Amino acid sequence: MLAESGVSGRLLLLAIVLLPGRAWAASELDPKEVLNQLHNVKVDPDQVYVLRHAQLIRDRVKLFFNRGYIGFFTKAAGEITGAVYIGEGEILLIPPTRVEKESLARFIHSPILEEQFTMAILRFTDQTARELIAVAERPEPDDPERPLDFPQKWNSAPHLLAVEDSPRIFEDLLGDRTLPYFHARLEGSSLKWFEVVDDERFPEAVSVVAARRGDDELFADCWCAFPSKSSAARRANLRPGMAKALSYDIDTHLEPGSSMTGRAELLLESLSSSDRVLTFDFSRLLSVSKVLDERGESLAVYQYPLQEDIEAGDRSKGWIQVVLPASHPVGDRFRIRFNYQGNVITDVGNHVLYVGERGGWYPNLGIGSPASFDLKFDYPESLTLVATGARIEQKTAEGRTRSRWRSDGVFRIAGFNLGPYHSVDRRVGKTTVEVYATREAEAALEERHTRKLAPHFVLPLPSRERTPSFPISPDVVRPLAPAALLQTVAESAAQALQYFESLFGPFPYSRLAISQIPGNFGQGWPGLVYLPTLAFLRKSERYELGLPEKAEDLLGHGMVAHEIAHQWWGNLLGWQTYHDQWLSEGLATYAAALDLSRQKDGDRRFHELLRGYKLDLLSKGKSGMSNEASGPIWLGQRLSNSLTPGGYDDVVYKKACWVLHMLRGLMSDPSTGSDERFFRLLRDFVATYQGMDVSTEDFMRHAEKYMTRSSDLEHDRRLDWFFNEWVYETGIPTYKLQSSVKQLSAKRFLVQGTITQSGVSSDFEMLVPVVAVVGNDKKAALGRVPVSEDGGRFKFTTTERPKRLAIDEENLLAISER
Ligand SMILES: [Zn+2]
Repeated sequence: MLAESGVSGRLLLLAIVLLPGRAWAASELDPKEVLNQLHNVKVDPDQVYVLRHAQLIRDRVKLFFNRGYIGFFTKAAGEITGAVYIGEGEILLIPPTRVEKESLARFIHSPILEEQFTMAILRFTDQTARELIAVAERPEPDDPERPLDFPQKWNSAPHLLAVEDSPRIFEDLLGDRTLPYFHARLEGSSLKWFEVVDDERFPEAVSVVAARRGDDELFADCWCAFPSKSSAARRANLRPGMAKALSYDIDTHLEPGSSMTGRAELLLESLSSSDRVLTFDFSRLLSVSKVLDERGESLAVYQYPLQEDIEAGDRSKGWIQVVLPASHPVGDRFRIRFNYQGNVITDVGNHVLYVGERGGWYPNLGIGSPASFDLKFDYPESLTLVATGARIEQKTAEGRTRSRWRSDGVFRIAGFNLGPYHSVDRRVGKTTVEVYATREAEAALEERHTRKLAPHFVLPLPSRERTPSFPISPDVVRPLAPAALLQTVAESAAQALQYFESLFGPFPYSRLAISQIPGNFGQGWPGLVYLPTLAFLRKSERYELGLPEKAEDLLGHGMVAHEIAHQWWGNLLGWQTYHDQWLSEGLATYAAALDLSRQKDGDRRFHELLRGYKLDLLSKGKSGMSNEASGPIWLGQRLSNSLTPGGYDDVVYKKACWVLHMLRGLMSDPSTGSDERFFRLLRDFVATYQGMDVSTEDFMRHAEKYMTRSSDLEHDRRLDWFFNEWVYETGIPTYKLQSSVKQLSAKRFLVQGTITQSGVSSDFEMLVPVVAVVGNDKKAALGRVPVSEDGGRFKFTTTERPKRLAIDEENLLAISER
């Protein structure tokens, strides 16, 4: 899967009114001086006021400052960009939609945010200072409550002043003033610290987030997020940023100690006529030495987080900001060159290397739009390097290898992997499948293997009592050998690729490379799949390592299939926002399940896998809430939070897989059972949207073209009813079926009955598949019964007397009560 930071990223990175009388024109400002001022903001002792009955309204957020003191910050670029308030205050926010109200309620047990606060830290590029100063008063010198130490107290702890907002404020101070930023950190009386943001550079401008711990991990819980009135009025899916990248030329030199020197030249196209700050994802383990424009002039560049704030080995996201001397008109194309060095490759033992930086090993403008990539690598001859794209050159001389890789399809991102690999390749139609793995497994996995296995090798002695209690030397254990299974993985990959071509259309790249990475997750880059060492092991070895049997269909072949399916779902077709990422994960997960179904004993294994997903969704977490109730699919990455750390995996992979399975059922022909429409829908969807980022709405409207008459529950040729229930809302229904059989003639039976529904909201409706259980416990589909809050009635005729009737639990995400 490709990772994209969703709303939670905003907490880390931390947007219509022109400010009249602003001291400087943006182009006159010295970026370095502005940034310096931003990094060193302090409460200005001359700007401390009393506030009474003041209020700020930012879209749907109302902040009341009832009685207290406010200290404004020293200026940056001639502007006040922050303030600290201590006193009595109150916030009121009513989210606009049911989904967001329910999301809020999961975190604070109320669909409305109404909270007293005692402190507020504000950062902004809008009119906040002007609005508040207009109603503030100077404190009386003899005011006994006047907090004399106010500035000193705050200035001693710069992080309390939210200086991490500096990069975001910097963009506005030097650029577009029509998309302002407002950020309030509030200390609530009962909710403790939380943050309210109105960042007009984001499509979903307004959000409420809180840093909370769950399962020993820190989460940026997003309580609610929605477009502001003005952000909704703009282009809905506008991504933040002043430019998009058209091409990347990247030259990477790798030394034996894994240190790397890089040069990148980017061709960009301007998206904003007033912005001049470009923000790139960029690893915090690399440092930029030079950034030049096309005339060779050096550009100001700032790297975040600041070097002194980085903890050793911390691989979390970093980024850089580059300041152009002037903005470019929209559509203008220009080039920027970068020089950088550092070390993003880790040796994890036994010669297994790990490129841990995903998309941050080059200055990356984000996965928002496809670009072309030309990658050159220079590395020690002893290593094999595999990158995204088609390899168009490779030469070895004097102990060094140089290779060149060019994008050969839709690319939003590029990556590489390297190691002392063994490899095999084979041809599948027009595509070459290459598989790369190391001879040994990474040290940590091998250690675990030895530890787990060694105790089983006890000396066979005649008497149990004399069995030695110590394990035998680890030398006895045959080490793991990922490269030994290259052929098996290549065979799996070739089969999955061929099968998916029949389902989704031609493979979108000229070759597919599969390379081993340490760890326990896979990732699908364009034309390049990362598979964890675990997927290169024998089933028995995974079992010895303590991996549950249940996981077997997901590891090994299942993971190969999932990651290959991402070549269509995720790479060829992207997703518009984090709300739509489920299409990519859900379809990759469902594709892997379908691939399982065409294997030996496939039908049983397919249904067992889905049954396992259903049980996972129904099982209850610590809070007593089912995993499925952690939120609707549409909330995407927000589902993993301090309340439900595994929410994303459960809902976006497993529930989405079920939703697609049920959609297939709805699209199948009621008389013949053919599911040909569903697969036509997928193939045509790929053909129509290739190279584009798709939304849930796109998929829904496209699916409607293939819906059957019987699935038209609302008689409007729309599938909103289905997507509303299963994608935009939570809830798994419980059904109870009662039936009777009447013999009409020798070979004709009338079966009739009712189905009642519970456990879901009153407007929930579904077409419930009913089966007849006949001789040999074989199931025969009878049809689908529309069931709503008022229940559903049915009548079918059969040629054999059924032993009983049942809800078809294999094809419905529901609980069936007997
Ligand atoms: Zn995935």
